[in-house]
Parts: sequence; structure tokens; C-alpha cells
Amino acid sequence: MIGKPLSKPRQSVEQYIRSIGRHYLNAVIVMTLLITATYLTMLVALDRHSLQQKISFLTSNQFIRFQQLANQTRALMRASADPSLPEYIIIPMRDDIHRAIGDIRAISAELHALDRSIGGNLLERLSPRDELTVQLRRELNARLEDFLGRATRIAEASAEDRRQRYSFWGPIDFAVAADSLLMRQFADLIGHANDRSDVSIDNAKLISTGLLALIAATVILASIFLFGPLLKKLRNEHRQTMAFEKRLTLLAHTDALTGLNNRSSFNFALGNLFGELERNGAGFSMLLVDLDRFKNINDGLGHPAGDAVLRHVARALQRTLRASDVIARLGGDEFAVLLPGIRDAAALESIAERAIEAIAADIPFDGRSLQVSASIGGAIVPDHAADEAGLMRIVDLALYTAKSGRGTTVIFDEAALARRLEENQLSLALVLAADRNEFVVHYQPKVDLTTGAHLGFEALVRWQHPDLGLLPPGRFLPLMEGTQLIRGMTRAVISAVGRDLKAWKTAGFAPGPVSINLPEVLLVGQEGYEFFAGAVRENGLEWRDFAVEITEDVFLNRSADRILATVARFHQHGVSISLDDFGTGFASLVHLRDFPFDELKIDRSFVDGIGKDARSEQIIRAMIHLAQSLGKRCVAEGIETEGQRRFLTDAGCDVGQGYHFARPEPAALAGKRLPQRAAAIDRHADGASAASRRRLALR
Ligand code: C2E
Ligand code: MG
Ligand code: MG
Repeated sequence: MIGKPLSKPRQSVEQYIRSIGRHYLNAVIVMTLLITATYLTMLVALDRHSLQQKISFLTSNQFIRFQQLANQTRALMRASADPSLPEYIIIPMRDDIHRAIGDIRAISAELHALDRSIGGNLLERLSPRDELTVQLRRELNARLEDFLGRATRIAEASAEDRRQRYSFWGPIDFAVAADSLLMRQFADLIGHANDRSDVSIDNAKLISTGLLALIAATVILASIFLFGPLLKKLRNEHRQTMAFEKRLTLLAHTDALTGLNNRSSFNFALGNLFGELERNGAGFSMLLVDLDRFKNINDGLGHPAGDAVLRHVARALQRTLRASDVIARLGGDEFAVLLPGIRDAAALESIAERAIEAIAADIPFDGRSLQVSASIGGAIVPDHAADEAGLMRIVDLALYTAKSGRGTTVIFDEAALARRLEENQLSLALVLAADRNEFVVHYQPKVDLTTGAHLGFEALVRWQHPDLGLLPPGRFLPLMEGTQLIRGMTRAVISAVGRDLKAWKTAGFAPGPVSINLPEVLLVGQEGYEFFAGAVRENGLEWRDFAVEITEDVFLNRSADRILATVARFHQHGVSISLDDFGTGFASLVHLRDFPFDELKIDRSFVDGIGKDARSEQIIRAMIHLAQSLGKRCVAEGIETEGQRRFLTDAGCDVGQGYHFARPEPAALAGKRLPQRAAAIDRHADGASAASRRRLALR
């Protein structure tokens, strides 16, 4: 699913951003320059325009003053015709003429200065010289100067002079000579100045439009040739980065082998489901799937086979479950499933069963076909757990229980949890039991079924638990399975029996051989044998004061030959060997033929069937017959009634054990039943049953 190796995008996004930044800066600089140029051009154009406006205005002003002067001068000339006109009227008229002449000259000077400033204007300098204006202005100035000269002369002439020279033809001549021509020139100049200022505005419009077009072109070209490709690259880079991140996320949340969710995304989904539960009370279920004997496949056929199996399981789960269910591989051969909305134990169980079926299908691998089975534990939220830790613990527990059955489903229930917790506590205390001398031995007699005479004991261990009191072996032996604890317990039992035997024998009793139940592990090595040797040595006993009971399971042990060697060593010392719980295990006739045992113990379950179940009775008869024909003693355990005793005696079984005779009791009580050594010999000498005699003969 995730085939391609993970590689980073070639160029980093920062580099692109940096290069875009550079180009952007360049574009901004270019545009700023263009905008500045536009602005300056506008300023220059407006400046020229305003100078031209001023010139036009001053020229108009000068024209008006000129007209006033012409009128005033004509008025003075006409007034001169009347010699009786008093001086006080003439004088102000002359003053007015002088004032007007001064004004017109001042305006001329101003216009001259303006002409110079407009000559410094950049646009004016760049555009072709305005010869027409220069020409018009020059001519106007010359004519105006001439006119002013004449006006000055008229104003300054004496009264007589004025009357003679100007009073009649003067005004007409004055008007013809200067007035009309000047007026035309003024009009031309003003019109021309106005035209020129319009040109300035047009220039400004043209230049700014050109520059703005340049700005727009810069923007368009930059986006097409500069930012376009850069953005495209950036988009590609971004796409690559996104894909890279997507694959990283996928890797972080997916199990590479199966493509399922991994533990971290499973935890995330679980958190979400608990969130949903809190928000709207939506419950869900969880299944924990574990493959049975997966290690054997991995070790025996190699990892490729293991991988094929794991992929098969992933597919099987995907096929069985809904798309909305979260399927994850938590690690190794452990899978987990979250099922939103499933809150019914029966529904959950049937889903789990379907998953088990799908997983059990053949897996083609390397030309052969593999098979694997799975155990599933399940629990429902919120019925069984209120938080994630609690749920994991409980599903684990359900799986643990399921694993003991293999290929089974166990949905969690409270009673199972209580049992398990109690077991856990017991297991912890069990570790210390041997060191604290908490193991005690009870003795149950083996008796002659015909006479009831005592023949020996079976030692049965009990655990004196500090809080729970005396516990039977059924409560704690299963917890010891597969641990070293059973060694300490067996040693404690053997040494307790050794001490009790010594005490009884010293007191003159005849306890007979005491059978010890010896677990396989202690038969494989020499340890069990050494325990007995120690007890014999320390208490001054004989080896034959002990007997050993082993169960049929030893025949399945891979080290059966080592067990056989140990048994042979016991035999050498005359220790009797019993085959315990006969009929419930795996002994075959071949085993019975070859294994050197002395006694066959018919299991309590058959004895229990006497009088109720004809088949059990048949089997008992067959077992007794078998024992007799192999030359072995036959012992029946669990005899509770007189009827059972009678049936067994009639069938030919001569030794028995059971509550009908005595319950397992502590040494002090059991000892009270023991015959004196001499009495026992006497009893057997004169008329004990034939079977009892055979037993004594063995000792
Ligand atoms: P087992 O060796 O078959 O012992 C006989 C069991 O039958 C004993 O149970 C005994 O109390 C019980 N029993 C005897 N007569 C009757 C009867 O008339 N009716 C009923 N209902 N039960 C009867 P117990 O003491 O609970 O021991 C159970 C098993 O625990 C033993 O079965 C033996 O396999 C194992 N065990 C006991 N002590 C030891 C020990 O010291 N070491 C080992 N390795 N296993 C032991
Ligand atoms: Mg036994
Ligand atoms: Mg038994």
C-alpha cells in the first residue's frame, strides 16, 4: 500500500517565496519609479499650465489698463480743447494717465519675469520653441512702448501745447495710430496664451496616460512572465508538500504490513468514541483478536509466512466487519476492532464468531496452504467499562479467558472479572506460601476393601491461606501451572510427610506407604528424586515408606524417556508407582504395557457412576480386569457408599480410598486411625484378606 520510498519535495517552499519576494520588490521599484515619473510630469505640466494662465491673465489685465489709458488720454486731449477748464480737473486726469502708464509697465516687467520662468520649465524646454508668442510679444511691446511714449508726451505737454496739437485731430489720430492695432495684437496674444495652456493640459494628459499604460503593462507583464510561472511552481511545490505530508500522516497512522490502522490511530478513534459517548451517550463495542500459536508459524515457516498470515487476518476482518468499524493492528499478532453502535452482547458475539470463521479459512502460501485460528475477547461500553484504561483491561481479560479455549470468543462478564481478580490475588500470595510454611498435608487412608484394614495413606496438600482459611488443591494448583512454585510446594509436602512418617514410626505405628502426587516437571529432572532422598536421609526412613502417584499426562511429555529413567530409579529403591486418575487421560494400551507402574487408580468419576450408570460399571470391570491381567494392583478412589464398596469388591478390586472410610485429615487425626506396628503384623498374619497380605508382601 505504501510502496514508494518517502522523499522530500526537491526545492523548499522558502526558496520560492524568497525569489517571489525578490521579483516582487523589483516590480514594486519599477512601478514606484513610473508613478513618481507620472507625478513629476503632472507637476511640471501643471506648473507650465499655471504660468501660461498667469501670462494670459496679466496680458488681459494689461490690455484693460491699456484701454483705460487710451480712454483717459483721449479724454485729456478732448478736454484740452476748452481753455476755460480749470487746472484742478486737468491735473487728476494727467495723474490717472501716469498711473496707468506705470501699471502697464509694471505688468510688462511681470510678464517678462514670467516669460523667463516659463523658459525654465522642463516641458517648455523639451517642446519646440514658441516663436509666434515671442514674435507677437515683441511686436506688442514695441508698439505699446510707442503708445506709452505718446501718452506720456500728451500728459506732460503744456495746456497750450495740448490744445494746439491734440485737441481736434489728436484723438482720432491716436486711435488710428495705436489703439486699434494694439487691441488686435493684445487679442492675438491672449488667444495664443490660452491655446498654449490648453496644449499643456493635453501634454499632461498624454504623458500621464502613457505612464499609466506603462504601469499597467508592467503589472500585466510581471504577472504573465514573472509571477505566473512562480505561482505555478509554488502551486506544484505546495501539491508535492501536501502529498508528502499526506503520506507522512498515512504512515504515522497506518500499519505498513496490513494497511490497517496502527495503535496510535486506534487510540485516537477510541478517544473519539468515548467523546461521543460523553456527548450523546452513543455506546460501542470493542473486540481484541489474538492469533493462536502464531509464534509457531513465524518460527517454523519464517517471517514471510507470518506476514502472509497477518495480511490474511486483516483482509478477513475487513470482509467481516462494516466500513464504519475501526480495524487496527496493535502489534505482533494482536488486532483490535471498534464497533460503533453495537451494544448487544449476543450481536457482538455473533460478529466475533463470523470473524473467527473468516480467519480460519485456508491461506495459500508458497504452494501450500496455511491455517490459523484466533481467539477473541470483547466488551461493551459503557456496560463493562467507563474509560479507555478500564476497557483495555477488561477486553484483555476476556481475551485471556478466550485464549484458554483457543479459537473461541469470550465477551466480558462481571463474574469472570471477579474470578480473575481473585485468582490474581491468590497467585500473588501463592508465591510466598512455601516460604511461610503455609502448605499443610492431609492424609487419606487407603484401605483393604474387604476388611477395612489400613494399608497406607495418600498425602493431599492444602494451603492454609492467612485470610481465606484452608484451601483445597483445586483452588491453587491451576494457578501454579507453568511456574516454579510447584517445586517449592512439592518439597514442602515431601518434607512434611517425611517428618510425620518419622513421628508415627517412632511412636510405634504402622502408617504403611504414603503416596505423594508428583508433578511431571519434577520427574523430568532429578529434583523430585532428590527431595525424596533428602526426606529419607533426614528422617531415617526407608525409601519404601513412600509411594509416588503420577497422572497419565506423563505419556504426552516430550521428555518421556527422562521421566522413565527417574521412575526406574524409584523402582530400584522399591518405591511403588501409581497411575493416578486412570481412564481420564491419555494412556494407551502401549503405554500401559511399557510403563513400569505398580498400581492403577480408577478415577473417582467412574466410581461415582456405580449404581447410576451401567457404562461406568462396565468400564470399571474392564479396568480391574486389565490391571489384573497386567499384574498390577487396582485401587478405586472416591468411594462414598457401601454399595460402591461392595460393587468394587465383587468386581475384584481389593484396595480403595474414599469418604466412606475416611476423609483426608491432618496428621494428628489421621494418626489416631493407625494400627500398632506389631498388631498390624499379627492381624495380617492370622487371616487378613489375601489382598492385604499381597500388599504387605510388597513392603
Ligand atoms: P487425586 O490425587 O486424585 O486425589 C484424590 C482426590 O479425591 C482428593 O482431592 C481427595 O480429597 C478426593 N477424594 C477422596 N475420596 C473422596 C470421596 O469419597 N469423594 C469425593 N468427592 N472426593 C474424594 P483433593 O485433596 O482435593 O485433591 C485434588 C487433586 O489435587 C488430587 O487428586 C491431586 O491430583 C492433586 N493434589 C493433591 N495434593 C497434591 C500434592 O501434594 N501434589 C500434587 N502435585 N498434586 C496434589
Ligand atoms: Mg492422587
Ligand atoms: Mg486421583
